[in-house]
Amino acid sequence: MSRPLAGKRALITGSSQGVGLATAHLFAQQGAEVILHGNQTLAQAEQAARDIGSNALGALKADLSAPGAGRGLYEAALERAHGRIDILVNNAGIHWATPLDASDTEWDNLWATTLQVNLMAVADLCRAALPGMVAAGGGSIINIASRAGYRGEDREHMAYGASKGAVLSLTKTIARQWGADGIYAYALAPGWIDTRMGPQAEADRERARAEIPIGDLAQPGEIAAMCAFLASGACRSATGSCIDINGASYVR
Ligand code: NAD
Repeated sequence: MSRPLAGKRALITGSSQGVGLATAHLFAQQGAEVILHGNQTLAQAEQAARDIGSNALGALKADLSAPGAGRGLYEAALERAHGRIDILVNNAGIHWATPLDASDTEWDNLWATTLQVNLMAVADLCRAALPGMVAAGGGSIINIASRAGYRGEDREHMAYGASKGAVLSLTKTIARQWGADGIYAYALAPGWIDTRMGPQAEADRERARAEIPIGDLAQPGEIAAMCAFLASGACRSATGSCIDINGASYVR
């Protein structure tokens, strides 16, 4: 396998499972040194770091639903990375239901936590990353958003769609404002992916497949492949764009 990421160091949030785990493995295979991250699933991230071997610089624990945790995670990752991170993949996310008939307290809490994990932590991580990347002459930020960010979501997941829409705007601002400093920022907008966040019951999977023209959910490795391609710098001019990965289930 070619090693287009050789010499680069990457922090991948939510890399204990799903898309983040696949991305950590692929980045390492392509030569990057990776820092993994987990929360309740830290043990899985630690196991993944052992599986990856010498290209893993460790696994860090951080609960991104806690205000300020994004900055703390980045600072800890910088230490592991000996002061230089070239690639930040903001992948951790939650897909919580926020139904209209929730109690006011539940509604407030569900929205606040969704925005905290899916948006504020991403903003905090980008804020922590930018000065060092600029000082080092550049870096890449890849934010995993969602088709829901521009299409909208179902009734039960208004907060999720809103959080991902905001991530798209955040990514574009970084690309436009820090491009001259060598910062490249991309958003990915997947439809259903075959992970724990995706549909689990066979009937739900069948319904999901039926609305996807190519007839299947995306595999985590497909999202990882796009992350690796973008992180390689092979197409820097795509900075600021949002890449659809949804089997043509929603074509803009
Ligand atoms: P997943 O549930 O397997 O992984 C989510 C990751 O986020 C896990 O590693 C988890 O530990 C981490 N995470 C969640 N809450 C956290 C918290 N409070 N603190 C720290 N980490 C936390 O799902 P996935 O499909 O791998 O999700 C990866 C990304 O892809 C997410 O941003 C998600 O919104 C996005 N996405 C997923 C789908 C899908 O169908 N699975 C579709 C579109 C976008």
